Amino acid sequence: MGTTNRVDLRRARMNNDAVFVAAVDAVDWSAIPALPNDPCSRPELVAENLKKLAAGTSYNQITDAAGGLAEGVISAHSGMVFPAAYTAAPFLLELVEHGQRPRIRDAALELVADSLFMVPPAGYGRVDTTRGRDVPLCCAIASVVRERREVVMGHNRRYGKDLMAEADAHWRLTVEEIGVRPDGISAWAMLEGAPFSTPVQAELHSSAALGHPVIHVDELLADASGEAYAEFGRVPSGTIPGDAVLYRAECGVREH
Ligand SMILES: [Zn+2]
Repeated sequence: MGTTNRVDLRRARMNNDAVFVAAVDAVDWSAIPALPNDPCSRPELVAENLKKLAAGTSYNQITDAAGGLAEGVISAHSGMVFPAAYTAAPFLLELVEHGQRPRIRDAALELVADSLFMVPPAGYGRVDTTRGRDVPLCCAIASVVRERREVVMGHNRRYGKDLMAEADAHWRLTVEEIGVRPDGISAWAMLEGAPFSTPVQAELHSSAALGHPVIHVDELLADASGEAYAEFGRVPSGTIPGDAVLYRAECGVREH
């Protein structure tokens, strides 16, 4: 490789780093809910450590940055995940794909996996997302992971596969058309994540619903594209709003 190519490569890399840093800095990390008086739950340190992880060149730099995130997006020592994990997930997945060193890519994937598996502290288990408010933290992170399926599966086959399977278990069902049956409600819907077994409880999100009432999904048929047909049992309000989105109810009550 000639000198010119080396210089161009270096410039391209600096460019990518600059884009990453600018994207991290564009987030208002101080607005993310954080536990008062918990030294781990400090979102502004998450931003610093994301940038350090991306720029790490030595084993120690990478380990320090990953350690900072392991006591920032999560608390590895207490097994908790914080709301900042949802905001950090796209950046970590970017590093899984484009991290300059294998250790950066490994550490980033591990942090995303821990974020998904760990349980939030009481009162910090929901986040507002680009697709809806008050979403269970695990389901919000799972949606981000599903958006980067190829990156996750391509990183490390076995580990990536396990993470993807977990993300798919946090399904999201978007109602598209309601039907009425003699003994309940049915709906055509779009399923993200893996088809789930029924009966199961789901929490209902809608602009028309107060809070997140729990309803029963009695039947689900879904094809590989996510097109789904669902049947519901008792619905407290008697019907399901046309803009309803369902998440698995057990996710809404996961907390320390
Ligand atoms: Zn979930």
